[in-house]
Amino acid sequence: MNSTLQRYYSGVRQKNAALSEQRLSECEKKNPRFKSLREERGEVVLAMAAGKLSAAQAQSRIAAISAERKNLLIAMGQPANYLDPIYSCPKCKDTGEVGEGRKKLCACALKQMQQTLAEGARINPKETFAAFRADLYPTDAQRSFGIRCKAYCEKYVASLPHPEKPNLIFLGTPGLGKTYFANAIAYGALERGIDTLKVTAYRFVQDALDGIGSHTETMRRYTDVSLLVLDDLGTEPMIPNVTVESLFRVLNERNTADLPTIVVSNLTREDLVETYGERLASRLFDGSRTAIVKFSGNNLRTRQS
Ligand SMILES: [Zn+2]
Repeated sequence: MNSTLQRYYSGVRQKNAALSEQRLSECEKKNPRFKSLREERGEVVLAMAAGKLSAAQAQSRIAAISAERKNLLIAMGQPANYLDPIYSCPKCKDTGEVGEGRKKLCACALKQMQQTLAEGARINPKETFAAFRADLYPTDAQRSFGIRCKAYCEKYVASLPHPEKPNLIFLGTPGLGKTYFANAIAYGALERGIDTLKVTAYRFVQDALDGIGSHTETMRRYTDVSLLVLDDLGTEPMIPNVTVESLFRVLNERNTADLPTIVVSNLTREDLVETYGERLASRLFDGSRTAIVKFSGNNLRTRQS
């Protein structure tokens, strides 16, 4: 297990231990009998360790103490296991590992790794196909579009790394779910073990500025990553000799290397041509490589519920 995961589980255990402590002191405040039961239990363990009680005697005393504690809890209106150790994952008891002898990673650890990976790739782990909600669409037409779009995007993920049309461009006004679907694709790709990176055009241009004059590691990553999602194209600053040039270079190199790219923009096709020029637009809208998905309708975020 890597150190990031170890730190994560140590944090989870600390948090749960603190919660346990808090529950115990709350119960002991309400009923002093809890405290004497805890002390009795401690005495039993000590007596057993000192050989004054047999293991069987100690076990039966401890069972009696636990039973009384459970009854007290129930009488207080709490669940009988309220003072049992708390585990976020009962399977691995928050260790991240399961199994005897040669241990293997628990399912919760795999999920956590995915999450960490997603954060590193700037992918939102909450915007996924699994979390997709058709009921958020304000009209039947939009809902039906959303459902078809989801199916299309899922098919795209399944066909990675070589979809029929490797590039997707999502166009439409804000709040129609473009970024959601782009993110869901990125997350789905990660789940399939495909190296993926999502970046806003704004951040991309910042990185391009930082790497000016040299082809930096970061810019190389944009060129080389198996799947790149470029979000919010059109919101980045237009810096002469940087914005259009770096976008062109990355998109062009990715096309040449047959690497899929997803671009999301609030601008129309005409606006994009005007903003970035024919040369870049021809890469963006190259019909042999790109499927254009147009989102339309009412903003999902301002929907009356
Ligand atoms: Zn677990």
